[in-house]
Parts: sequence; structure tokens; C-alpha cells
Amino acid sequence: MSIIQAAFAAIVGDENVLTPETEGFEARHSDPYAFDPDYKAVSPGAVLPANTSEVQAIVKAANELGVGLWVVSRGRNLGYGGAMPRRSTDWLLDLGRMNKIVSVDVELGYIVVEPGVSFFALYEYLRENDLPYWASVPDLGYGSPIGNALERGFGYSAHGEHSKYLCGLEVVLPTGELMRTGMGADAESNATYVYKGGNGPDVIGLFQQSNLGIVTQAGIWLLPKPETTAAILVAAATQEGLADLVDTIRPLQLNNTIDSNVIIGSGLAVASGIMPRAAIFQGEGPMPFEAIKAVTEKIGVGIWNAKFGIYGDDAIVKAKVAAVEAAVSSNLPDAKMSVHYYDDTVTIETAHPGDRGQLGIPSGDLIQMAAWRGGEPAHTDFSVVATTRGSEAQRLVDLVKETVNSYGLDHVGGFTMFGRHAIMLNLLAFDKSNLEEQALINTVFAELIEKADAAGFAPYRAHPAFMDRISDAYDFNDHSLRRFITTLKDAVDPRGILNAGKQGVWPKGERPKK
Ligand SMILES: Cc1cc2nc3c(=O)[nH]c(=O)nc-3n(C[C@H](O)[C@H](O)[C@H](O)COP(=O)(O)OP(=O)(O)OC[C@H]3O[C@@H](n4cnc5c(N)ncnc54)[C@H](O)[C@@H]3O)c2cc1C
Repeated sequence: MSIIQAAFAAIVGDENVLTPETEGFEARHSDPYAFDPDYKAVSPGAVLPANTSEVQAIVKAANELGVGLWVVSRGRNLGYGGAMPRRSTDWLLDLGRMNKIVSVDVELGYIVVEPGVSFFALYEYLRENDLPYWASVPDLGYGSPIGNALERGFGYSAHGEHSKYLCGLEVVLPTGELMRTGMGADAESNATYVYKGGNGPDVIGLFQQSNLGIVTQAGIWLLPKPETTAAILVAAATQEGLADLVDTIRPLQLNNTIDSNVIIGSGLAVASGIMPRAAIFQGEGPMPFEAIKAVTEKIGVGIWNAKFGIYGDDAIVKAKVAAVEAAVSSNLPDAKMSVHYYDDTVTIETAHPGDRGQLGIPSGDLIQMAAWRGGEPAHTDFSVVATTRGSEAQRLVDLVKETVNSYGLDHVGGFTMFGRHAIMLNLLAFDKSNLEEQALINTVFAELIEKADAAGFAPYRAHPAFMDRISDAYDFNDHSLRRFITTLKDAVDPRGILNAGKQGVWPKGERPKK
């Protein structure tokens, strides 16, 4: 047993210190979708604390031993690095055993959870206890509400922008000290989980996509179960329909007619969640439009599709749906709109599988997307920030499509709209067992960043292999934001032990030479 293993075992017990030799290690403690040959996909070990004081003790030991830690909540960040540190010598601090639901306030509509609680567990808890609330869920239910919100992940209900609904963080700082944000800084406050502010700056954002602290507990605001939910699909029939679709949806989000975020998916993106490419087209090169059109007709969707929910009392929902119908029929005469209505008794058993995201019901179905190119399923996403101007959406699609098509890949993607901004997601699926395909994804991704940067766009989240390059793209005033965060990093983590390199922020002495 190494000195590091022994030190961690003294805190959490032998059975909670894992190494690559431990059976099943790689399944939970690696990056299953790694595609950069320089990027080692398995960490040297993982330590699994049971509570906040064990996290503090591990962090203090790591400082003494000079060993780095990379924290994961459930480590399911598939496509964006999985459970894998950037420095190949860093240990994983896996918070999966800290899976308690700490408290729930039914009157005020929030729940306090530990990082190891999954979306599946949260859904079951709300259901088993017959609580009058839903939680928002992303496509895959096995991730963590805390891990996902800290990464600025999103789901598809009225609380879909997960980072917005996080309030009252308990944080272990890189020195091992314990801190609480906002009202939690007042030890006697009963407003910790209802007001993000307090005395001075709201620092929650400092712990998102960050390496300044380890979140060990957080409050999450829940969505009151609506009397009625309308799960809506607007299917546009043409390639050119994208800009009009985006320009039709934006005002409806800005005036709160549509209160969820809106997924705009290409027909091929919808198909990729249901079947592999080979079930549609077996040829080489980008899939021809005729094949794309044929599959969209077969599965009953458009070339571009907007999917979203409207929530509330029955009369309000019906009035809002009528407003959406009016906008669609006047702006998108060729589009088809379909509405599924649900009452507040809807469950995983009764919901249409395609509506689960809008209803706060977790599933694992969309993992199918990673199998798009067959072989050993793997993927990453090129995820870019845009405004919700239709012309800009079209410009981005043209840029990405032209690039991926030039490498013989299909364009499979779309946008999630949040009113004023949108996140464009492009699926870059590959066969993990095929080294040529891995190398191809590496090349295509690098080129996409360059082209997007030149056109004024930047990714919001990406595989760690590209974090430094993306950080370079945020270049206002000689990277003054990065210099500011780096100054904080040096102050709060002088030994540089936590999440080194996260979003391109490195400890002193390890910063890439420019
Ligand atoms: C097919 C498919 C569909 C997907 N769909 C979605 C989607 O709809 N929406 C979406 O957002 N994502 C999606 N993802 C990406 C990913 O699966 C989810 O975001 C997932 O929730 C992230 O895993 P996690 O919650 O276990 O986070 P983790 O892997 O635990 O954490 C992610 C990162 O956050 C930081 N972090 C985590 N916990 C802490 C902590 N306690 N303190 C400080 N920092 C921390 C670390 O840097 C860590 O590496 C999808 C992935 C796939 C493969």
C-alpha cells in the first residue's frame, strides 16, 4: 500500500480507497469516451468519503502529501470527460457515497441533498413521499443534481436551467476549511436555501465549472407539480425552417408564454436517440438529404423540431397553448404542432417516453445517441453559446455542418433555447474501438473550435482535452477574467491540489506557456 493509499484509508477505511487493480474500478472511475491519445483515461486511484468531515480530512491529507484531487459527484459527465482528472497523477475524490437527502421543506419548495444523490433517486424520493413537487432532469438520470448544476448542465422543464435553482452551498475549500454561501454564512439563519444573496457578493458562481472548492451539500428549488402540463412538439418541414422556428419561439419565451427551455433538434438528432446510423443509411460520407427526409417521415418528426413544456393551472396552460398555436400558424405555415396534455398524476409508467424530460421523469434512453456510428459507443459534444436570433442559429449550423461534412461525418445536433441565449449541441459520435475514428474526432473538434472562435462563438463546456484552447478563446483584455480567477486560485489553493486545469485554470508553476 502506498503512502497516499494508507493516508486516505486511515480516513475512510481500506474498502473506500480504490485503485485500478480493484475489481470494477474502470467502470466508475475513468473516461469511457476519451478520444485524445495524449489523454490518459484512468486515474491512479479513487477515495470515497462518507461525509463532509471525511472530505475535509482528505483535503488536509492531500495538502500535506502534495497529491492532487479531482472531485466528482457521481462521475457521469459522459462526453465531457467522465470521471477523470486532467493531471494523470491526481486522485479522484468520488462523492458517490454521500448520497443522503438531508432535508425537504414542503412549504417553501426546496430540498437539500448531498452530491451522491442521483436524478433517479431524487425522482423516487419525491414520488415515494408523495410530495407535491417535481425536480428537473437532464437526458440521463444517473448523474447528480449537484454535479450537473455545477457544470451548468440543463434539463427540460420549467426549472431546466439547473444552475439557477441551486441555493445555499456547503463548500470544503482547498485548504480543508468549511464554508457556506449566502445566508448560510449566518450560522443561525433559516433562509440559507431560499435566498442566494446575503451580506456581500453571491459567490455560488465561483464554484461552478471551477476548482475553488468542493460542494458537499446544496439546496435545490423544486417545481410545484402543475395541475396541467402541455408537452408540445412543433415540427418544421424544411432545412431553412430553423431560423423561422427560433424567431417564433424566442418572443414566446421572453414573454413567459413558454416557461421551459426549448430543445430545437434536427430530425437526424431525434433519430439518433432511437436508432443507429446503419439502420437509416449504410453508405460512406455525410448522409444524403433524401435519407434524412425518409427517416424523419418514418418516425413522424420534422427536419427541425421544437420540443417544450407549458405548466400551470389548466385554464392558463390552455390559453398559453392557444397563443403558441397562433404564433406557429402565422409564422410557420408548413409546420405541424402536436400537444400531449398531462395532469399531476403522470408517472414514468404513463408518460409518453418522448415527453419525460418535460415532466421531470429521469431515464437512460438517450444513451443510444452514443451508438450512432456503431462499434463501441462513444461521443463528445461540441457545445457552443449563441444568441436566440434565428439568423445566428442558421449561421452556426452552416459552420458546423460544413466542417463535419468535410470529414465525412453527419451533422447531428440542435439547440437548447433559454430565452435570450441558446446552447448549440453537436453530437460527435465515434466507435471507441476504432483508433482512426478517435483521431478524426480530435481533429474535427480542434477545427470546430478554431472556426467558431474566428466567427465570434465559443463553447460553454467541453471535454477536458480542449479546456485550455477554449479558455484561450475567452480573451477580452488579455484574458482578464482568467487572470482574475487564477488570482483567486492561487489565494485559496496555494498548493494547487484541487481540479488542476479545470476550464483551463492551472495552479502556479503549471500554467501552459503562451
Ligand atoms: C447521451 C447523453 C445525454 C446527455 N444529456 C445531457 C443533458 O440533457 N443535460 C446535461 O446537462 N448533460 C447531459 N449529458 C452530460 C452528462 O451526462 C450530465 O451532465 C451528467 O449529469 C454529469 O454527470 P454528473 O452529474 O455525475 O457530474 P460529475 O461527473 O460528478 O461532475 C462533473 C464535473 O463537475 C465538477 N463537480 C462535480 N461535483 C462537484 C462538487 N461536488 N464540487 C465541485 N465540483 C464538482 C467536477 O469538475 C466534475 O468533473 C449527457 C450525456 C450523454 C452521454
